Amino acid sequence: MAEHHPIIIVGAGISGLSAATSLAMRGHKILLLEKHSTCGGLVNSFTREGFLFDGGIRAVENAGMVKPMLEELQIDLPLLPSNVSLGIEDKIIKADSKESLAAYERMLKELYPDSTEDVAKVIKVIAKFDIYMQVLFGSDSPFFKDVTRDVRDYHYPKGGVGSIPSALVQRLGELGSTIKTGAEVVHLDALHHTLLDEKGNRYTYDKLIWCADMKHFYRMINAEGYSDPVKSNIVTEQEKILSSRGAESVFTLFLAVDLPPKYFGNISEGHFFYTPSKQGLGQLHRTELDNILATWEQLDRTAFYSWLESFCRLNTYEISIPVLNDSDAAPEGKAGLVVSFLFDHELTRRIEKDGWYNEFEQRISTMMIDTLAESVYPQLKDHILFSFTAGPLHIERTRGCSEGAIVGWSFEQDIPIDAGMLNMKKAVLTPIPDIYRAGQWTVSPAGLPTCIMTAKMAADLVHKELGE
Ligand SMILES: Cc1cc2nc3c(=O)[nH]c(=O)nc-3n(C[C@H](O)[C@H](O)[C@H](O)COP(=O)(O)OP(=O)(O)OC[C@H]3O[C@@H](n4cnc5c(N)ncnc54)[C@H](O)[C@@H]3O)c2cc1C
Repeated sequence: MAEHHPIIIVGAGISGLSAATSLAMRGHKILLLEKHSTCGGLVNSFTREGFLFDGGIRAVENAGMVKPMLEELQIDLPLLPSNVSLGIEDKIIKADSKESLAAYERMLKELYPDSTEDVAKVIKVIAKFDIYMQVLFGSDSPFFKDVTRDVRDYHYPKGGVGSIPSALVQRLGELGSTIKTGAEVVHLDALHHTLLDEKGNRYTYDKLIWCADMKHFYRMINAEGYSDPVKSNIVTEQEKILSSRGAESVFTLFLAVDLPPKYFGNISEGHFFYTPSKQGLGQLHRTELDNILATWEQLDRTAFYSWLESFCRLNTYEISIPVLNDSDAAPEGKAGLVVSFLFDHELTRRIEKDGWYNEFEQRISTMMIDTLAESVYPQLKDHILFSFTAGPLHIERTRGCSEGAIVGWSFEQDIPIDAGMLNMKKAVLTPIPDIYRAGQWTVSPAGLPTCIMTAKMAADLVHKELGE
């Protein structure tokens, strides 16, 4: 016997939760189905032995979107300032105002005196991108009431970024909607508006908003039974989506350290982009990686680790130190660090398949720690209390993201959706009647602000179609 719900949303990441809350605020009762045991998707925080860590995004960029969304949903959540530092070798600057771009330019010119023209070009691109972001997410944002002009301001929600999904979950409960966790959707009969979760529960809907992995969605879709034009549109999109790849993934090392927050605060802000060597990674590493993958059967593990070592030494690290933003994020006199860089999903898949993932995990963790200890944190190595990692396979398995992608589709191939940032309204429509979509697979480039925007658009459409 199927449970009927007028609106079902699949995926309780930031897009599913914000679409659901937006609809619930207008009187709708929603069923939200989530495969994981907790909500939030790539926006999540957790505590281990008193240390607060963020498992996905490290801080939230308001972008004229997050604060107004919380206000509109009547969620009062303390948002602490989250400042950013940029560093290369021993030069570290704070990136907290428009003037920071000039400081960044000076820093780059000092580090690369023979490339001042190239540096000027890079700075020009960054400045142009900033203006684009302001136009897109600035005070004229039509999506939320009362948007204030505070673009590119980063915030750290008290209790970690996961406090945002937690607040949305609470709000949804207050509004009488239902969230079912541990309910992975494994079958979708779109023609008959029916879903099945992995425990065999059956649900029917009038309107469905899909806020989870798009490849998983299209693997379940059967175009038979629809009229010819609809069928042809479904098949065309299905082929495009299923032959596409997710964007890069990330490898993260979590560290609990017996060093006071001041030690780290004297070096950088709580969100720190750091490149230990001015040589940088460049394109060479990608070519070498492609070569490693192409000749995998003959892999010489010693040569591989030598490549990995230079990858760790030359890379740019995103380092987040929650206790510098929220003083309750670590036990007294200690600090937790979340250290990561972009990492290839296919490489980790092959290592695991060949049975040496644990060895790899040990080696890469040591290399990351050694690199940071030899550059920016000389005292780090002797003060580590415990550490653990999460790689692309973890993201793929726990959050259901194809290829462990963290921001939707890969830029290296044609993007399989024909809607970019400037025509998002089209993006939330699917070729399948009564099914809408939102989130990181809906527009490109994707990220937290566009997830919230598409969620709001999908919610508005469903609300309108159900007769306001
Ligand atoms: C380390 C990291 C750093 C990031 N940094 C930034 C940044 O600086 N700026 C920025 O804008 N963005 C950043 N992002 C990206 C941003 O966090 C994501 O794009 C965004 O959170 C995606 O939200 P979503 O709701 O679309 O998808 P998800 O978070 O993937 O949520 C989808 C949900 O659906 C569930 N699900 C999947 N399959 C099923 C199924 N079959 N049935 C039921 N449920 C299912 C999943 O468990 C998950 O909870 C970062 C992400 C990471 C991981």
